[in-house]
Amino acid sequence: MLTIKQRQANLQFLGYYKGQIDGIVGALTKQAYRNFQKDYGLVIDGIYGVKTNAKLIEVIKEEQIKLGVKVDGIVGPITINARDDKNVSLAWNDIKYFKKSEFNCKCGCGLNNIDLKLVKILNEIREYFGKPCIVTSGCRCQKYNDSLRGSIKNSKHVQGKAADIWINGIRKAELLSKCKDYVRCGRANYTYTNESNMKNAVHIEI
Ligand SMILES: [Zn+2]
Ligand SMILES: [Zn+2]
Repeated sequence: MLTIKQRQANLQFLGYYKGQIDGIVGALTKQAYRNFQKDYGLVIDGIYGVKTNAKLIEVIKEEQIKLGVKVDGIVGPITINARDDKNVSLAWNDIKYFKKSEFNCKCGCGLNNIDLKLVKILNEIREYFGKPCIVTSGCRCQKYNDSLRGSIKNSKHVQGKAADIWINGIRKAELLSKCKDYVRCGRANYTYTNESNMKNAVHIEI
């Protein structure tokens, strides 16, 4: 049998459980058992027995097969991340202001591993200022990154998780301040700018 925490994590993944993963069978957990039992044709008694256990594992295994992760019937970070990535990969249609090619490595190597979570933030920034936002540097292969003056070896640009942007007609301090909002709320990891080698651009990374 799955532990209570595992049951909660599995049911949360499937949208049945709305509470904390705390290992305590409270009202929300019992409600999740009932709703799951109802949807899968089991006896609706709110009691987690062998049949409910078997069905829950089976349903999670099917999800894991679809996501291409280890099939063990137990939801952990890898399963959750795989689904998040999948959701994100379907979302280029939601990006109004950027084309993927704008993030290509500038050396011409064709690398483009840009993270859509970052592009979503840039899209919001672009929307906020209402003016075209130019990507001066997006993805970078290691070779190109290392060739740039002032770049660090493990730059987030190499991972596709950073971009340098500028907006014509918007003061750099204002753009930086907007980027800092994203760091403050936890959606971005870091932002900075400097005069010497970035001109008008601001770096933002997730
Ligand atoms: Zn390159
Ligand atoms: Zn940068």
